[in-house]
Amino acid sequence: MGVMQKFLRAVAAPVLALALPLTATAQGLIRDAEIEQILREYSDPLFAAAGLKPADVNMYIVQDDSLNAFVAAGQNMFIHTGLIMEARTPEELKGVIGHETGHIALGHNVTRQVAAQGSGNISLITMGLGALALFAGAPDAALALFGSASQFGMLSFFKHTRSEEAACDLFGVELMEKTGQSADGNVSFMEKFRYQELMSESRRDPYFRVHPISSDRISSVARRAKEIAGKARPQTPEEIMQLKMMQAKLVGFIGPPSRVLSRYPGSDQSMPARYARAIAAYRAVDIKAALTQIESLIAEQPDNAYFHELKGQVLFESGKSAESVAPHRKSVELSPKHALLKVNLARSLIGTKQDPAIKEAEGLLMDAIQLEPDNAFAWNQLAVAYAKQDRIGDANLATAEEAYIVGDLARAFNFARRARDALDMNTPNGQRADDIMALSDPRNNPRAMRRNLSELALEHRH
Ligand SMILES: [Zn+2]
Repeated sequence: MGVMQKFLRAVAAPVLALALPLTATAQGLIRDAEIEQILREYSDPLFAAAGLKPADVNMYIVQDDSLNAFVAAGQNMFIHTGLIMEARTPEELKGVIGHETGHIALGHNVTRQVAAQGSGNISLITMGLGALALFAGAPDAALALFGSASQFGMLSFFKHTRSEEAACDLFGVELMEKTGQSADGNVSFMEKFRYQELMSESRRDPYFRVHPISSDRISSVARRAKEIAGKARPQTPEEIMQLKMMQAKLVGFIGPPSRVLSRYPGSDQSMPARYARAIAAYRAVDIKAALTQIESLIAEQPDNAYFHELKGQVLFESGKSAESVAPHRKSVELSPKHALLKVNLARSLIGTKQDPAIKEAEGLLMDAIQLEPDNAFAWNQLAVAYAKQDRIGDANLATAEEAYIVGDLARAFNFARRARDALDMNTPNGQRADDIMALSDPRNNPRAMRRNLSELALEHRH
């Protein structure tokens, strides 16, 4: 099985979950507006306290049940869904994030960096958790969007020295102190998994392979945590609820269904429990039950963008494009800075096949691309919006952009050439088609050109 096939299989996991139970080893990057937002709110103050510019740190969510978090080439942090699901308190999750932030701030990953050619491409998964479901049973479509095998270099993982680990342990506590939070989670997280110390390395969670727990390690963190305990504020009820909602969503979306039942028995009427059950019902294609649950959530929190997003998703994917427009529109109104939400709305608008709606979709997709220039799915949908307006040159150009982003240079070249033939060379789009042709020209070295295109993409506006 090629790298790409393996990757695709992993990426497609939430999709296939409609039909197949996921295994604990399924792995792929996932995107979700809500989870990304919450992780940002948890992490940005820690990044800032570490002297980093929060916007420069990329965060990725890895769909994997095991406990892990790591940093890779550049300021890239990866969080496993298993870590989010197992954290008992926001402080536990923040503690791990703080420790990993140490590796970035102290330059550990830079000094030990091995070439990671894949690192520029790790944001390829450009659709939300639920939107991936569109590609159930359409591996070719998914392949076009997620790119070719050549794009996925091995990410380098860093095995740090013991002294670096010790430095990051303390650095993590310090970040909690600087942000006025308790570091008890840094300690309790290690204690909870202390039993893994006794396991053979291969049986440990990956985090504890790289971060072996020892009494020394725990006691030095505990000592520092105790020193700052007096100044710490408790986590707010919102922060505590945010963790529960992320967990409910992940349990709902990545299953298996038995986990939803065991973590959220019917007697549990809390908001997270209803959220998880609504998602589970949607995945079980019990649309009516899903919508009933979602309505109850919306009634309770009418300003929660993600409840409206979920409603829109359920409607859209059950073939009700027109009805899905209003909830998606509401989600964008409530959370206007999220590319993923805009793309959802655009997709629904395109689905209505009405001219004014398609025009509106075009604008939303441009906004989304402004926020995320490398969002291949947004380019894909923009191509559809152009094609429906018979703007074939622009549609071909958008397809060329999409293909370039996912690393399918042959396709990028092909569509850019077709776009150039149809477009006026004295317009920005005509110029852009020419640029993509040059950059994806099979005679050029694709890897060397990649950097140039990223620079170009920054300047490029339609
Ligand atoms: Zn570490």
